[in-house]
Amino acid sequence: MVSVRGEAAPVTAPEECITSLHGAGGERMGQLLREHVIRRFHRRSLGRIGLDQLDDGATIDLPSGGEVVITTDSHVVKPIFFAGGDIGRLAACGTLNDLAVMGARPLALTLGLILEEGFPIADLERILDSLDQALGEVGAALVTGDTKVMGRGELDGIVINTTGVGVAVPRAIGDANLSVGDAVLVTGTIGDHGMALLASRQEFHLTTTLQSDVAPIWPLVERALTAGGVRAMKDPTRGGLAAALNEMARKSQTSIEVDEAAIPIRDEARGLGELLGISPLDIANEGKAILVVGPERADAVLALLRSHPLGRDAARIGRVTAEYPGQVILRTEVGGRRFLEMPLGDPVPRIC
Ligand code: MG
Repeated sequence: MVSVRGEAAPVTAPEECITSLHGAGGERMGQLLREHVIRRFHRRSLGRIGLDQLDDGATIDLPSGGEVVITTDSHVVKPIFFAGGDIGRLAACGTLNDLAVMGARPLALTLGLILEEGFPIADLERILDSLDQALGEVGAALVTGDTKVMGRGELDGIVINTTGVGVAVPRAIGDANLSVGDAVLVTGTIGDHGMALLASRQEFHLTTTLQSDVAPIWPLVERALTAGGVRAMKDPTRGGLAAALNEMARKSQTSIEVDEAAIPIRDEARGLGELLGISPLDIANEGKAILVVGPERADAVLALLRSHPLGRDAARIGRVTAEYPGQVILRTEVGGRRFLEMPLGDPVPRIC
C-alpha cells in the first residue's frame, strides 16, 4: 500500500467492511452469513428448520405437537411510495409471504418502526394504513411493536422491521427436499416488483405502466396446498428467480432445468430490463412463489394456482434433474443451454 507521499496509508481493506452487496440476497450475502454471522450463535434450532437451514423462516416444535413458524424481515425500500405499493404494504407482505412459503398460515405480526426526525406524520399514517390493509387480506393481526426516532440525516426517512408468526398447516414446508422428476412451478410473472421500483426512481427518468406485484400470497398458497404433492416452496425476493432456484438446487444437491420460454415475464418488465441492462430473472418479486411439486400432482397444483386471481399467470417452468447437482440450467428460447448463475445480489440496493 503506497500513498502519494510515500508513507503507508492506514486504509481499511475493502473486504473487511460491509458493502451494499452484503445485503442484496445473493452470493456475497450468503458468504457474510456463513463466515461471520451464523457460527457465532451456539443455539440455532428449536425444530426441524433453524438458523443453519437459511430457509424463509424457522420452525419451533410445540410441546403439544405441531409447529409454529417464525420469520423476520427489515424493509429499507427506496422510494417509499412506488407504483403498485409502498413500504407499508411491502413490510407486511415480505414477512407474510415468508410464512406462506413455509406452509404456515400467518397469524401475528410485530412492527418495529425506525423514523427520521422530520418524517411527515401524514406519510406515516398512509404507510401504516397500507400495512393494515395487507394484514387484512390474510386475516393476520398486528399484536406488538416498537418505535424509535433518529436525528435528521442519521437515517433516510423510515425503516420498518416486521416479525411474523404463523402455524404450519399441517407441517412446515422447507425450500430443500427436491427430488429428481419434480415439476417446478411459478405462481405468476417474474421481475415486476424490482423493475417497477427501478422505474419509480427519478434518476432513471422512465415511465411505464408496470406495477409492483407486492401482495400477500397465503390465500393462493393455501389453495394450492389442498392438491397435495408440494415438496418445497420459496418466494423469489432479493436476487430474483435466479437466486431462489440456485438456493433450492444447492440445498438439495439436485439440478433444476428451466425452459426460458415458459417463464412468464410481462413485456414491460422485459423492456425495462433491456433498457437498464438487468435481467428480470435476477430482480426481486414480492407477490410470487416457486413451488416444487411431485410430478403426479403438478397439473392439479397448477390448475388450483390458476383458479386464484393472484395465480392467473402461474406456469410450469421446469423440472428437477440429476445432471448438474447444485446448478440451474436454462434452456434458452433459441434452443441452447446455459447455467443460470446465482446473482451476486440484487443489481441495485434498496429494492425491498
Ligand atoms: Mg423468502
